[in-house]
Parts: sequence; structure tokens; C-alpha cells
Amino acid sequence: MFEATEAFTAKDETDSCNDWQQELQQNITSVDQLKAYLDLTEAEEADLRQVVAAHPMNIPRYYLNLIDRSDPQDPIRKLCIPQSEELILAGAMGETTKDPYGDDKHDKGNGVLHKYSYTALVVATEYCAMYCRHCFRKRMVGLPNEQTVKNFRGAAEYIAANPQISNVVISGGDPFLLPTETLRQMLDALKEIDHLKFVRIGSRAPVVYPSRFLDDELIEMLAEFNRHKTLFVPTHFNHPNEITPQAREAVQRLRRAGITVNNQAVLLRGINDSVETLVELMNGLLEIGVSPYYLYQCMPVERVRHHFQVPLKQGVELVDAARQQLDGYAKRFKFIIGHDIGKLEICGQVDGKLILKQLHARPGHEEESSRILVRQLTEDGGWLDDLPEVALGA
Ligand code: SF4
Repeated sequence: MFEATEAFTAKDETDSCNDWQQELQQNITSVDQLKAYLDLTEAEEADLRQVVAAHPMNIPRYYLNLIDRSDPQDPIRKLCIPQSEELILAGAMGETTKDPYGDDKHDKGNGVLHKYSYTALVVATEYCAMYCRHCFRKRMVGLPNEQTVKNFRGAAEYIAANPQISNVVISGGDPFLLPTETLRQMLDALKEIDHLKFVRIGSRAPVVYPSRFLDDELIEMLAEFNRHKTLFVPTHFNHPNEITPQAREAVQRLRRAGITVNNQAVLLRGINDSVETLVELMNGLLEIGVSPYYLYQCMPVERVRHHFQVPLKQGVELVDAARQQLDGYAKRFKFIIGHDIGKLEICGQVDGKLILKQLHARPGHEEESSRILVRQLTEDGGWLDDLPEVALGA
């Protein structure tokens, strides 16, 4: 199954001079580089240096150029440039955690997180084209790539030994930031596992680094794999300003390879927390051939929650109002809480009570999947645990 260690190493080195990797080396990673692009006050600069020491900055020049520099509140700016609020570990929205989805409890080693019996998530790399300021895996991004292939060998062995796993999510980090040959070897390892029905590769590269998909070798390799196992790419557009001609081309190249592209956005304060923006985002996604799949409630992540999370009361009102303006395909997305106890869909509200339906449950709690939960909405509550349990008729 894994015969090509030496071949991989040699190819990996030659891949290192590919155009897409050279472009990535021009990323903005230091405050000094950033100052050449944006005017920063002395106070902003001092804060930024502190934030970057805690969680690194990494911005492709393509994405940086989407910022409207005349607007300090520009959403693209907030998604990629650190803000002083990241220094506050717990703020107005409440306590925070590094691992809100409880991933670490389901760590099987070699990058495998196995929370739901039918799905294995493999952290294939901890590197991303951009370090998004709202990332819920802030605790993980940054491990060296050398680990990856070794991890994936063990990961594939784990998947092969567990026939209840019907699908794999290759995630990170961003798997498309790996050399094409490395990805090929990973996918080849999965090809031979009969009980595996489909594979997802989670990536924000179509949004923040679309030129990665101009690589014909990558597209051909994905098309070839897709002939063996159905391949999906869940991507992550958060704002209509991210839907550019370059992003459209990236998506269309994936689609021409026969790959379905779904979107998993996050509801973020100051980014997409208006009806108009949500409507424009969902319609814009359909226009470029991306299916709106999830809109996540922002998790209570350390250095994220305080400034990005929208209260659930406000969020459910926004989503309901946006859905009133969307056609059937655009409103297919589910408004989701990715919680330690499992994945929950926010269905709506009745008389100030939030109605949720559980979609997936932890091992040993299977009876909880598909149950209905009811919580009392409050003005500020931003997470399930903030809302008191209440009976529907109370
Ligand atoms: S690309 Fe994804 S994993 Fe990487 S920093 Fe952004 S949100 Fe996090």
C-alpha cells in the first residue's frame, strides 16, 4: 500500500520549486512586511506584534489585495489581519476553550480524529495558505510538514482496520498545500480500502489561494482518484467579496474534474452578520457552482470568540430573515453548532425558544442523534451551554 517512501522524498524536493509554492513564499508573515501595505498606528503595531507572537500571521498577497484599504472595517481585513482583541482570552461572550469540538478526545494517533463511527477525519498537514483569524483549530496550525506522510501511513492502516468507516475527511490545515505527489500517495492509500465509499478534502485554498488549482497535474490527479472513489471538496467562503473571478476559476477547475464543491461558512461578527451579506454570499456561491452546505455558529475558541461570535438570538433571526429571500438551492444550508456532544442543527425559534436537532452523536451516545433540543434564548448567549434548558410548552 505504501511503497514509495524514497520516490516520495525525491519528488517532494523537486516539487518545492513549483510556481504555486514560489508564490506562497511571498506571503506576508511579519508586521514589518504588513506595514508596507497598510497604515498602522503605533498602538496598532504594538498590539499586532503581541498577537502575532501568540498566533502567527500568514497572508497570501492575492488575499491581501482583496482588502479595501480605505475601510478600517473591511471584512477581508478582519479575516486575515490580527486584531488586538485576540489578546483577550475570555471576554464579553464568556469563557473560551482551545478545543470546542472536543476533537482531542477522539484522537486515535497518526492524525486520525474518530468521533462519529462512520467518518474518520485525518489531519494531513498543519499548514495553511493563510492563518485565518477566526480559525477553530488555532491550537494546531503550524506543525512541520515532514510529519505528514508518516502520519498518513498509520492513518490509512487505522481506516482499513475499521470497516464501519464509510468516508474520510482529509483536513488540516489545508491538504491542498501539500505537494501534489504527496496528496497522490495519500489518496492512493485510500483507493484500495473497499469499505470506504467517498472522500472529502477540506480546503480554504479556493478562497485564499486559488492559483493552487491552476496546477494541471493536481486537477488530473484528483480527476483520476474521483474515478475510483467519489471526491468532494468542502470549502470555506465567508463573505461575497471572496467570490472573485480567480476563486470561480479554481472552483470550475475542480468541477471539471467531476468534484462536487460544498461550502461551510462561519457566522462572524463584523464579517457576514447582516441579512444582505448572507443573501449575497449564498447566491454568489450558487452562481459559481458551489453548494451552500453549512453555516457554523462561531465556536467559543480562545482568541476568537470574544470579537467574532454573534449571539444565537441575533444569529437565528438573521438566518431566518436571509432564508426568506433565498430560493430553494440557496437556502439548503444548515445553521450548525459543532459541539462537544455532537453536531446540532439550529432549526429556528418558537416564542423565544431555540429549537435544535442533533445530527450526529458521540460514540456510546448514539440514541442522542436525531433528538430535538429546546433552549431558552437570551440576549447574549452565544453557545448551547449559555442557554437554559426549557420545555417547548413552558
Ligand atoms: S485555512 Fe482553515 S484550518 Fe487553516 S487557518 Fe484558515 S480556517 Fe484554520
